Amino acid sequence: MQDEERLITSGFRAEDDDQERSLRPHSLAEYFGQAKIKDSLSVYMQAALARQEPLDHILLYGPPGLGKTTLAGIIASEMGHNIRVTSGPAIERPGDLASILTNLATGDVLFIDEIHRLSHSVEEVLYPAMEDYALDIMIGKGPSARSIRLDLPKFTLIGATTRAGMLTSPLRDRFGISFRLELYTPEELSVIVLRSAKILKIDCDREGALEIASRSRGTPRIANRLIRRTRDYAEVKGGGKIDLQVAQDALNMLEVDELGLDRTDRAMLNTMIEKFGGGPVGLDTLAASTGEDASTIEDVYEPYLLQLGFLIRTPRGRMATPQAYYHLGKKPPAQKIDPSGAQTKMDI
Ligand code: ADP
Repeated sequence: MQDEERLITSGFRAEDDDQERSLRPHSLAEYFGQAKIKDSLSVYMQAALARQEPLDHILLYGPPGLGKTTLAGIIASEMGHNIRVTSGPAIERPGDLASILTNLATGDVLFIDEIHRLSHSVEEVLYPAMEDYALDIMIGKGPSARSIRLDLPKFTLIGATTRAGMLTSPLRDRFGISFRLELYTPEELSVIVLRSAKILKIDCDREGALEIASRSRGTPRIANRLIRRTRDYAEVKGGGKIDLQVAQDALNMLEVDELGLDRTDRAMLNTMIEKFGGGPVGLDTLAASTGEDASTIEDVYEPYLLQLGFLIRTPRGRMATPQAYYHLGKKPPAQKIDPSGAQTKMDI
């Protein structure tokens, strides 16, 4: 199954478009979880507002669907300025970025999603813009060419990436603030589910919300998608209300198990176990034998499977842990179980 076809992908699906617009929080108070980031951000924002200066450039990184775009919008609105949203692949030439930059107003936020995908020549334009709020333009060609410097309004760049490691170091160094977004706990996600239920005008109790949250892989985008599907089920078969039973029945029907794994996750773990004896298996080999993209495995499946403790990364490749065997109803090979249960004896 391709990633965009999966119900529980944390990546963006076409069906999310309208839904995300209506469910997206607009203030820090409505943005649940990520407490540490919110605390630091409030301090930085208050300080910048008191000094009447724009906020320092911010790098947000972490798996898709955790709220990077949402947070950028909230920062702009809490600072009382506009946001311009674009992405690394959309800015093809240096001139594209120059025209975006010259159209910003003082204090505006420029949000660049997938910033690790900017081309080298575009990135070069960004350096002086971030550091000195300036644009260097070459005029003429050959020996008579000269460079002139244009002043830009003082703006805040917010860059988002799923892979901080793929950013070049000159770019990374120019961000004054950098935050890593973490997967949400089921309790945090259940608050988001209850808020979304209210907006979607569906009656949902706490147990129902927690059940949806527990199967959402720590990701608000997935939680919002699952509540919409569960709402459909509740309206047709559950008397219009989501409780524990309705949530369980709806999600079982969608083949999303109690930990949020779907058929593709199970197939991937099965491949590791059946074909490769539990690993270690290299990322590219795993990609080839499951028909998935290596980068999709790394960005979308792995963060959650690692958090569950079903996978570990070793220098020689990925390994399935005994927990993964148990979850699939299989018996792990004896040498892979540590009697203390604290750690596997796998060859790391
Ligand atoms: P990313 O940019 O990291 O891929 P988004 O910001 O697009 O993720 O978030 C996806 C959706 O999840 C948003 O439309 C929003 O409805 C919801 N969401 C994300 N983070 C939160 C949060 N902290 N609280 C409530 N809803 C959230």
